[in-house]
Amino acid sequence: MKNFLVLGGGFAGVEAAIKLRKKGYNVTLVSDRDYLFIYPISIWIPVNGISFDDSKIELAKLQKIHGFNLIIDTVEKVDAINKKITLSKSELTYDFLFVALGMDKRKIKGIENTLSICGAPKQAITIKDELDKLIENGHGKIAIGFGVNPDDPTGSVVRGGPAFELLLNISTYLKKKKLLNSFELNMFAPMPKPGIKMGQKAYNSMGKFFKHYKINKHTGKKIIGFTKNEVLFEDNSKLESDLIIYISGGEGHHLLKDSGLPINKAGFVLTEPTCQVQGFPDVYVIGDSAHLLGPDWVAKQGHMAEVMADVAAHNAHQHVIGSNKTISYVDKVSIICVMDSGNGAAWITRTEKKETMIMLPIIGHWFKKAWGFYYKNSKLKRFPRIPGM
Ligand SMILES: Cc1cc2nc3c(=O)[nH]c(=O)nc-3n(C[C@H](O)[C@H](O)[C@H](O)COP(=O)(O)OP(=O)(O)OC[C@H]3O[C@@H](n4cnc5c(N)ncnc54)[C@H](O)[C@@H]3O)c2cc1C
Repeated sequence: MKNFLVLGGGFAGVEAAIKLRKKGYNVTLVSDRDYLFIYPISIWIPVNGISFDDSKIELAKLQKIHGFNLIIDTVEKVDAINKKITLSKSELTYDFLFVALGMDKRKIKGIENTLSICGAPKQAITIKDELDKLIENGHGKIAIGFGVNPDDPTGSVVRGGPAFELLLNISTYLKKKKLLNSFELNMFAPMPKPGIKMGQKAYNSMGKFFKHYKINKHTGKKIIGFTKNEVLFEDNSKLESDLIIYISGGEGHHLLKDSGLPINKAGFVLTEPTCQVQGFPDVYVIGDSAHLLGPDWVAKQGHMAEVMADVAAHNAHQHVIGSNKTISYVDKVSIICVMDSGNGAAWITRTEKKETMIMLPIIGHWFKKAWGFYYKNSKLKRFPRIPGM
């Protein structure tokens, strides 16, 4: 019986553990959090649309249902050369390693003055508290933006979707409270056309969206830092704000730099289309930790993390049984985004062949809510899984 060690209890790690268990392997999952955080629905925490507890699934429950071993501890070192994983309280080894540790965010000057909806999960609660304070005052300036990583050749680590969604949701929330006219909502990003990765159709509609939700755009200017109440740009201009939410460009997980695994300039692990690491046939890297292959619009998303987990579990099994019937995730690369605004959503998809953008007023919001419910309950085996969802 081969021992599979999965590092990380997010979208990629949990899906891999489930799929490997289905194939009958002995699987141990290590996570520093005792829950799987469902980031896509966490955008509603700041606007009182969902509680923190409803945005997560306890890993112990998943362990019980799917039968993997669970260790809640922090991975301190990954040594792929000697097949040794150091945790804070023990050391582990493996026959096959699945790395699903997510990614880190670039630090820029003054970043401590900002909050992120894409960082430590509990920051979503801090954003809610800060927003509540402004609402209590009856007015305020809110700036939400995202950055790039110049070292990432694909730009796949730019995470703009949650920034757009949070702004749209805050706008709807303030409107419901009849406070929208007393607030200034600003979106900032260094690229001239933020959101173009989702396709031209989606990009064109974003402009209309912003106007409708009273959001000002500040784009095409490099962000050089932050003060307590300002976003600072390269051309010496400033954006004043009472609350700054910033999603920095992603960079590879810090532990992977010294792991012996090959990484790109931004620290993401270089894999084959099978998710197997180049030169390490018993190591697979999945989800946000990997350097994604594919078209120049490829994006690190939860559904891609699950596709990669599935592909990697299949390929590792082929490896074990001595078959070469491997599969690739690259031909499955797509963008799937339900851009929620709190009172509707835009359904956006992009593949090599097609771009789709469908506006779904009201129903789109409930569709995304239903997806969150489905995601949780299908993982807990209360519902059957629908392939691709
Ligand atoms: C606000 C937000 C909204 C999003 N919306 C969407 C969406 O609508 N659709 C979509 O497809 N994608 C969306 N995404 C992207 C999606 O959530 C990510 O692509 C996905 O979470 C990546 O999964 P992962 O398992 O690779 O990484 P993560 O989910 O980040 O999981 C990494 C895991 O590793 C663990 N870990 C990290 N370091 C250590 C350590 N040293 N020791 C032990 N454990 C460790 C973490 O605790 C975590 O469990 C969104 C992301 C955010 C932040």
